[in-house]
Amino acid sequence: MTTATISNETHCACGKAFADDATSFLPGYARKADTDERVCYPCAAAGELADLHATGKATLYLTGEPKSHPTLSTQPFGWLEDVKVTNWTGLISFRATGWNRGYHNIARTRTNVWFIDDKGAEWWGVLYGENTQLLHCRRLKGRR
Ligand SMILES: [Zn+2]
Repeated sequence: MTTATISNETHCACGKAFADDATSFLPGYARKADTDERVCYPCAAAGELADLHATGKATLYLTGEPKSHPTLSTQPFGWLEDVKVTNWTGLISFRATGWNRGYHNIARTRTNVWFIDDKGAEWWGVLYGENTQLLHCRRLKGRR
């Protein structure tokens, strides 16, 4: 995809304006990893979503806190009301369907999260340690 014809740096290719500096009231922008092109958050999210479906892999964020449980076993759905898997801006948001937390020799804890994407495919994500929200996600094929 070429965007060489877009001369106005304060507009996304979709036509949406974004802030060129921190004082603007307009929303900010993201940069595409491959081309460095500036895009609005909805376009960035659409790109992330397309990439997620195409590759079966994504780096997302875990928001909300799964309630800890003494047995560290997988919890039923009821425990996960506020737990979501999102992109950086939160425009992509999937509800977690299950999780568990175990011990990890270096990061101390390892949290596994399962969720369903917008096409109904099941995903698994893993988060290492307590001081991060970064979730390394992979689509599952016919598992669980
Ligand atoms: Zn846009």
